[in-house]
Amino acid sequence: MIDKAIIESLVKIVGSDQVLSDPYDLDRYSGDALTPFRAFGAEQAFERLADVVVRPGSAQEVSEIVCLANLTGTPVVPYGGGTGVMGSVLPVQGGIIIDLKRLNKIIEVNPQDLTAVVEAGVVLEDLVNALAEHGLMPGHDPYSVPIATVAGTISTNGVGYRAAAFGPMGEQVVALEVVLPTGQVMSTRAVPKNSSGPNLNQLFIGTEGVFGVITRATIKVFRVPEAQAFATAGFATFDHGFEAAAELLALGIRPTLLDLTEEDDHVRLHLLFEGYREGVEAAQNRSMQVCAQFGGRDIGPDHTLEYWAERHESAENYKRNALGKPREVRWNRRQGRSFDYLHLALPISKVLAYRRQCEKILAEGGVKVVEYGLWSRPEMFSMMVVPVNGADPSNRQNMGKVVEQVLTLAQDMGGIMEYCHGVGVKLNHLVARERGAGHEVIRSLKQSLDPKNIMNPGKLGL
Ligand SMILES: Cc1cc2nc3c(=O)[nH]c(=O)nc-3n(C[C@H](O)[C@H](O)[C@H](O)COP(=O)(O)OP(=O)(O)OC[C@H]3O[C@@H](n4cnc5c(N)ncnc54)[C@H](O)[C@@H]3O)c2cc1C
Repeated sequence: MIDKAIIESLVKIVGSDQVLSDPYDLDRYSGDALTPFRAFGAEQAFERLADVVVRPGSAQEVSEIVCLANLTGTPVVPYGGGTGVMGSVLPVQGGIIIDLKRLNKIIEVNPQDLTAVVEAGVVLEDLVNALAEHGLMPGHDPYSVPIATVAGTISTNGVGYRAAAFGPMGEQVVALEVVLPTGQVMSTRAVPKNSSGPNLNQLFIGTEGVFGVITRATIKVFRVPEAQAFATAGFATFDHGFEAAAELLALGIRPTLLDLTEEDDHVRLHLLFEGYREGVEAAQNRSMQVCAQFGGRDIGPDHTLEYWAERHESAENYKRNALGKPREVRWNRRQGRSFDYLHLALPISKVLAYRRQCEKILAEGGVKVVEYGLWSRPEMFSMMVVPVNGADPSNRQNMGKVVEQVLTLAQDMGGIMEYCHGVGVKLNHLVARERGAGHEVIRSLKQSLDPKNIMNPGKLGL
């Protein structure tokens, strides 16, 4: 249990309204969209609740909270939208959850610099709406636009629908303001590159809050495109679609959306081209020629248009039925259903061989793939899997073991186990295996920046 004096100090920093210690609030904040039914071996991480939740209103307040935590050796967990799917906000050692959503100001939109300066807790949808008034848009467009925050998406280095052209969220970061584990505030400069040592933004991209709390970000923004063209190509096999996608990128064509899906016997490549009119027309024409070269049939824009129009629906649904609700409510949505959505990355030359080996492992292990995909690049390969014999606990447990085999196979073939959602508690035990000596480098950085291990302890394999 947390010392009463710490709670009193938190009240002094943020005011009593912004300190929550009611069991109801501790429960609903102690987790994200990961349920124990998908945790596959990390179920014990759900046992501990936070001791207190604080909702600071400024970077100064965040700094004072972290300073207090450091002095008293209290764990702190940064919390954005709480929409992660790996359990990266689970307070596995209790302590303070810092909810960043009151840091929700869009400080500056600069159409000349093509940047926006925003606070950590801005929800992506609010950013989309604010930028639209300037004829601009963000480069990151995940399913979770209605619910995820800017700093949460930086800290997971998430992938979205426009990533084929603009890259993942980490590539949108120009500069950051961060509260370090000692409470000190650090800012990087808003220029596209430097040649004076490592880019310190990288320390906070995809690192799940273990090195500090992001309080402000300068991110790239893009003109709302002059022209858009949607296209869909149907293929006889996934391999043909894969080859076409790889050829498009090798030629230098950059669709904003590139999504190859194999589901219910259909293999479809969804493409969206955006930009200046002549470029869009040329990219679309040449892309459809490339698809034809690999046996792809142009089946018109409608499938992709429909898919585009529905892309945020799962998150709208989550917002209505689960966001901010008690854990029981969130978990019950998925009870009885067991599935996992794997997002692996491998060198292009290894993806199809990897798929063949997976098919064997999964079939022998009683696990079925209901969807295969590529998202934004041919290296980024996804599989949605379910247990063949239903979702009872023993089948779920078995699926966990089989999933682990295919994740480690990706590592053994020179790839990585997850390109989209981070590590959280679910993949924590596989991080050191993937990074080898590099993991020791990260461990040393963590020890020197956060000697008391207060920042989101127990995450990122640390
Ligand atoms: C319906 C649905 C659809 C989804 N679709 C996608 C998708 O298309 N693409 C995708 O990539 N993900 C998707 N996700 C997962 C999720 O939205 C992303 O992982 C998102 O990036 C998390 O953002 P968040 O603000 O909710 O962060 P949280 O879940 O609150 O936190 C995620 C991690 O970031 C850390 N963090 C949060 N704020 C800060 C901060 N200010 N400073 C330092 N660390 C911080 C947390 O400690 C945690 O480790 C989806 C989730 C749902 C529920």
